[in-house]
Amino acid sequence: MIMRPLIAGNWKMHGDMSWIEKPAQFDTLMPATERGHLDILICPPALFIAPMAASCFETNILLGAQNCHRAESGAHTGEVSAGMVKSAGADFVIVGHSEIRAGGETDEDVATKAMAAAKQGLMPIICVGESLDTRKDGQAESVVSAQIKASVPEGLTDYVLAYEPIWAIGTGMTATADDIKAMHAVIREIVGPNVRILYGGSVKPANAKEILGTENVNGALIGGASLEMESLAAIARAA
Ligand code: PEP
Repeated sequence: MIMRPLIAGNWKMHGDMSWIEKPAQFDTLMPATERGHLDILICPPALFIAPMAASCFETNILLGAQNCHRAESGAHTGEVSAGMVKSAGADFVIVGHSEIRAGGETDEDVATKAMAAAKQGLMPIICVGESLDTRKDGQAESVVSAQIKASVPEGLTDYVLAYEPIWAIGTGMTATADDIKAMHAVIREIVGPNVRILYGGSVKPANAKEILGTENVNGALIGGASLEMESLAAIARAA
């Protein structure tokens, strides 16, 4: 099945309020008429979601958060709920990013967050990925399969799955096209034909074409190379 590619930028904790202009910059570099066949998503720090909502809407760029809390509301200092993300103007939320899992977040926590997001009408991007030791032990496929089974909530059908090998995030190392193909085939078996599967981990203009051309890769989740609109647009052009 041909799926509409999703090119998703995760700005992490980068930027300042001047960055709310970036959707307009992207639109100048790659106007909507050139990207009718794909979806562009930007996930800025939560504080920038509301001020970016209007310009993202005007430029047909999707807006997402990088995380949300599993509870609807309550005494959770510093946290942001899925309902808040939605009411600020976003339609997507990343859950289970390895940088957050590293702080102790479990698969069950990720599933609860994904459900909280879906209940608010947000599209969860559920992240999974193995460590370098796991890959060296030959356990990557079994570990990622188990993560997916435990991180995707029972009954949820509308979500995006992002495969991000931890050792490839922010390191400049990428999985080989063969490794990506093999892992995405395993993931496809689990998630079925209708879920978009993104690859993430040091995707950049130089490797985008090969990665995005790999079977069962329906887009990319991009950290570092999404901070400059020139490189995000170059990746989008490869999709
Ligand atoms: C990420 O953090 O999701 C990511 C893929 O980062 P980078 O592209 O910088 O490796």
